[in-house]
Amino acid sequence: MNSPFDSYLTQLESSLKFLKEDFSENDIEAAKKILSRPDRVIEKILKVKLGGTETKLIAYRSQHNNALGPYKGGIRFHQNVSKDEVKALSAWMSVKCSVVELPYGGAKGGVVIDPKNLTESDIENICRAFSREMHDYIGEKVDIPAPDVNTGEQEMAWMLDEYEKVTGFKSPGAFTGKPLVLGGSKGRTEATGLGGFYVFDAYAKSRNIIPSKTTIVVQGFGNVGYWFCYFALKAGYKVLAISDSSGALVHKTCVDIDEVSELKSKYRSFLEASKHTNKYSFATNDELLAMNVDVLAPAALENAITGKNANFVKAKIILELANGPVSPDAETKLLSKGVEILPDVLCNAGGVTVSYFEWSQNISGYYWSKSQVYKRLSKKMFGAFDKIAKLKALKNISSYRQAAYAFSLARIISAMKFRGWLGK
Ligand code: GLU
Repeated sequence: MNSPFDSYLTQLESSLKFLKEDFSENDIEAAKKILSRPDRVIEKILKVKLGGTETKLIAYRSQHNNALGPYKGGIRFHQNVSKDEVKALSAWMSVKCSVVELPYGGAKGGVVIDPKNLTESDIENICRAFSREMHDYIGEKVDIPAPDVNTGEQEMAWMLDEYEKVTGFKSPGAFTGKPLVLGGSKGRTEATGLGGFYVFDAYAKSRNIIPSKTTIVVQGFGNVGYWFCYFALKAGYKVLAISDSSGALVHKTCVDIDEVSELKSKYRSFLEASKHTNKYSFATNDELLAMNVDVLAPAALENAITGKNANFVKAKIILELANGPVSPDAETKLLSKGVEILPDVLCNAGGVTVSYFEWSQNISGYYWSKSQVYKRLSKKMFGAFDKIAKLKALKNISSYRQAAYAFSLARIISAMKFRGWLGK
């Protein structure tokens, strides 16, 4: 199994070589040392009542680097959360925030719990306990959490409420991804999927790709997978299959997103749903990855595509909507087959970009319309794609990931240098 943090270290190492003309050897070495580990990882035991029983859960917050601004990144609830995983996810947040030129560093938090069978009050208890234990390390100018896997606006609302109770003052900018009525931003819910769509659209335009002739499969039907499908379908792309953790629903010509959503909420899993519909056939996750389509969009968890299954992939383009879905060994195989990989740190940066818009609105107290949010998000995503594509051409870099890293790391290193963190 590829450790996510090892993947990050490989990506860091292989991108720094493109910065030799921009920084001295000493600066690069000093920066590499700092970026090779998070600034700190906070680990706490949460004592919470689950189903009335006192339970102990492990919670983490990894703060990777804050040269560009306060730490920023989501909190996930998942049974596979580990210290290694949050470390990697926090480092990817540092890279991501700098790719889209946000005034933030990177962080990520997590609680080791499978929330699937928990009640609403269990989840509220976990959120409040997380905030109580972590409040010293969080703040609108310190570290700003947001939703991630299995968390959303309700979780952010409970966390904010507890944070404000403990600290004694209103501080809406301490969490993003909040409900609108608590200072959330219009467009935040769909932001990650929409941002991914904008990046793909920018790439498609650069290659004269025609939507109605382009087939896509999406792995993952959480917030990101759903909204990406929604916008891709609206633009005329043909989404042929979409999966959840049980497997995929496949349509011969194009899925209907409302129909698929209804099936999911009625039968809970696509495997079960497939037994009750004759419009869609069923495919296992492995079969989904091997489908003969133009674009494969992994939108679930890390390491969906590894050295073990990379050879089965037939898609020509991989759009990384999840964080870390393609391991470095898989990437080497795919690139050598000529597959284009549009990297996570660019493709899923729409979420944190609208989080930044939300934070700006909270700080100024002045709120934007949905069309302003969409317009500014589109400008950010198209602009970032353009800058990375230009750098890729200029420095003759073979992958979009390395180009995105080179662009991002140059900014982080420059900030660290100005701050005097790299020594003389
Ligand atoms: N969890 C999201 C991500 O991985 C959003 C982070 C944020 O908005 O701070 O990018």
